[in-house]
Amino acid sequence: MFKDITPELRAGMPELRGKLEANAPTAPLSWFRTGGPAQVLFTPADADDLAYFLQHLDQQMPVLVVGLGSNLLIRDGGWEGVIVRLGKGFAEVSIEPGLRVRAGAGAPDVKVARAAAEAGIAGLSFLRGIPGAIGGALRMNGGAYGGETKDVLIEARGVARTGEFVSFTNAQMGFTYRHSSVPDDVIFIEALFEGRPGNPEEILAEMNAITEARSSTQPVNTRTGGSTFKNPPGKKAWELVDAAGCRGLRIGDAQVSEMHCNFLINHGSASAADIENLGEEVRRRVHEMSGVELEWEIKRVGRNLA
Ligand SMILES: Cc1cc2nc3c(=O)[nH]c(=O)nc-3n(C[C@H](O)[C@H](O)[C@H](O)COP(=O)(O)OP(=O)(O)OC[C@H]3O[C@@H](n4cnc5c(N)ncnc54)[C@H](O)[C@@H]3O)c2cc1C
Repeated sequence: MFKDITPELRAGMPELRGKLEANAPTAPLSWFRTGGPAQVLFTPADADDLAYFLQHLDQQMPVLVVGLGSNLLIRDGGWEGVIVRLGKGFAEVSIEPGLRVRAGAGAPDVKVARAAAEAGIAGLSFLRGIPGAIGGALRMNGGAYGGETKDVLIEARGVARTGEFVSFTNAQMGFTYRHSSVPDDVIFIEALFEGRPGNPEEILAEMNAITEARSSTQPVNTRTGGSTFKNPPGKKAWELVDAAGCRGLRIGDAQVSEMHCNFLINHGSASAADIENLGEEVRRRVHEMSGVELEWEIKRVGRNLA
């Protein structure tokens, strides 16, 4: 447990409208369902509230933003500082002229894919295959089934750690494979996408095909973080993991998925340390077998238990 600093924060931010919680459990915030407490969990009411909070927060205070937690491992010792969770105030999706879709960073990717499909906007159906929210897609350059965020993004808006509103064109996002070079402390609040003309029924059929393909190849209804390691140039991470004999490898209740061996699974009572240690053991074996250094795609944050 951390010191409860929410009374001081409230006192210094009399106009704050969002919710502050001390020592909030983080397991419900991530797909792995693991992790120690957040010293403070802040759910801003809207973008202005988030900016106000950041302006009035000690600039040295560590801040982490979480979306749907589908690419996140929060360590067992928790997060000392503030975790920002974007809730309903950030989930709006609207269609704009010119085959454009504006989406709040808290909107689930699937909701954006569906809105685009219904409006006859093609090119965004890949979002159906990513179980996160738009902020995570911007940070990770999320992609699936031949499309990625960088293909359709016009502009992203965010709030810097100082509380200033900032915006980034597609080029300024510095997108590479599963990465954006925008400074880590920027919290995205909104994205503007542009697709191409399409037929709603065909796009919805494409989305259904993605749903089926996912459920037959990925353990989608389990406690997992999706692909654990990035594909090294010219190689597939899962093939390296498989060739190193790690399919099904287990530490406690953490296991390398039998179905898709770039996925790690929490069978129920794995700690974050079990999952991370399993990932490190996989990296060690892959390196020993092939000389390749696998790079974590899953973001690991927070501290270990003392
Ligand atoms: C079953 C499964 C399948 C998956 N399949 C795919 C796939 O096919 N393709 C793919 O690309 N990914 C896939 N993923 C991984 C994951 O869904 C994506 O990386 C997704 O974009 C993460 O979004 P999120 O909202 O869950 O982000 P989180 O996991 O909450 O956060 C991920 C990172 O983004 C940052 N972040 C989140 N929101 C914001 C914000 N508003 N502003 C700034 N930074 C932010 C976080 O700080 C963290 O560093 C899969 C995951 C699972 C569990």
